[in-house]
Amino acid sequence: MSDIALLPQVEAFLARHHALFIDGRYVQSQSAQTLDVVNPATGQVIAQVSEASPGDIDAAVESARRGFKQWSAAAPAVRGHVLLKLADLLERHREELAQIETCQSGKIIQISRAFEVDQAAHFLRYYAGWATKISGQTITPSLPSFAGERYTAFTLREPVGVVVGIVPWNFSTMIAIWKLASALVTGCSIIIKPSEFTPLTILRIAELAMDAGLPPGALNVVTGGSQVGKGLIEHPGTNKVSFTGSVPTGLAVGQSAMGAGLTRATLELGGKNAAGFLPDVAADVAVNGIIEAGFLHSGQICAAAERFFVHRSQLEPIMDKLAQRLSKLNIGSPLDEATEFGPVTNRQHQRKLGEFFAKARAQDNTIIHGGKLIDGPGCYVEPTIILANSRSDTLLHEETFGPIATFLPYDSEEELLELMNDTPFGLSASLWTNDLGKALRMVPAIEAGTVWVNMHTLLDPAVPFGGSKSSGMGREFGSAFIDDYTELKSVMIRY
Ligand code: NAD
Repeated sequence: MSDIALLPQVEAFLARHHALFIDGRYVQSQSAQTLDVVNPATGQVIAQVSEASPGDIDAAVESARRGFKQWSAAAPAVRGHVLLKLADLLERHREELAQIETCQSGKIIQISRAFEVDQAAHFLRYYAGWATKISGQTITPSLPSFAGERYTAFTLREPVGVVVGIVPWNFSTMIAIWKLASALVTGCSIIIKPSEFTPLTILRIAELAMDAGLPPGALNVVTGGSQVGKGLIEHPGTNKVSFTGSVPTGLAVGQSAMGAGLTRATLELGGKNAAGFLPDVAADVAVNGIIEAGFLHSGQICAAAERFFVHRSQLEPIMDKLAQRLSKLNIGSPLDEATEFGPVTNRQHQRKLGEFFAKARAQDNTIIHGGKLIDGPGCYVEPTIILANSRSDTLLHEETFGPIATFLPYDSEEELLELMNDTPFGLSASLWTNDLGKALRMVPAIEAGTVWVNMHTLLDPAVPFGGSKSSGMGREFGSAFIDDYTELKSVMIRY
């Protein structure tokens, strides 16, 4: 097989002199500094974007404040309609957006199409439905009257204002869409700061959002690195940050937000997610589950499992079958539709994964399969199975965010639960068994924001998602996001 041909509009987009997206149009940065965007499959620079200056940040915030004034006054039905139109436009530009995404992130083209575009459109439509359903409450006050006067009260849900959406590189489109949909549907305006590694697709989507009828300033995109993110959060004109990224950066973001005068913060962070297999699960089913949980998008999914706990009686057959399956994976160019396993998203991350392999070897872990970086201009890493020596080994505690499944056997269900919870993080976990009664008894003991049974990684817009313990603060999706993007105003009336 061979690479699909890039659409002419993708070639033209990549060749553009990229700028910031402020007030409904491309605006040249006041800074001369640029960042290279590198295709991780080839190592080639495919575009350059601006590293926004403090002046650019001011301009984006001023625009977002104007955008907020206009957008927050729009009728809820209008807000929903614009999001629905944007979903239609994503689908109309499906191949174009998917190709841009694959070129910047190395995500295999089917994942770009299915998740970054199709799922993103699905999430947008889900959020659009909330536009007309967000409301306050009427309340009967509880205190007795002093002299015959009466009281009534009600609450209003008001948009928090200008939101800063800070996005990581792993799902640069879908995660940006989660943030902009939550903000826009509640009447906020939003400034997206994409990852410096993957800033392109959202710049194109911002143009489509204007075609969908969003007023200028309701959505701005400001490119750059950590200083740009920090500058936006600490700007007095922004009201909330919605951050998705690593735990250390999340802590810094939380501190910036609090230091900036209690700027509201939602933090969706990383983890060290576990998958536990009870002995009643057939080895083939377990292997399918492990591939779903740990190897999709080369393991670069925040909710992916990295720790696999298997009953001692099943450890060898499961690891053998998994090794056979991984050895047959078609590793190759992400633009080739036959490819099943592509590169990781950047060189820095590839090197970090190499360091994890070295740590595993230094601790005498057994590399069952893979365990090496793949030489070449692209950022490829072998899909890897590691058998840890003990529960304190590094690979069972530090997030690799790569295609590395680390195994440890257990002997009893009690020990399984202890191992699954042996981490400061709590984003997600999965339990695999045919005994649903047992699963339902075990689920409350698992410390994670999401616990899947006989599945892993599937996110649904109707089901709240977010981290417990050190994996974050706040929830996205369902109705849970409404609390984070609105202020609750109480109104009391005497009559
Ligand atoms: P990262 O934390 O390095 O960067 C995330 C974003 O934060 C980038 O846009 C970056 O430029 C910006 N940033 C960096 N320093 C900042 C600062 N001081 N102030 C403001 N912004 C700053 O994360 P990454 O490497 O891009 O992504 C991988 C991580 O994201 C993994 O840890 C993964 O688990 C996590 N993640 C979590 C979820 C979730 O929903 N919980 C989803 C996807 C990824």
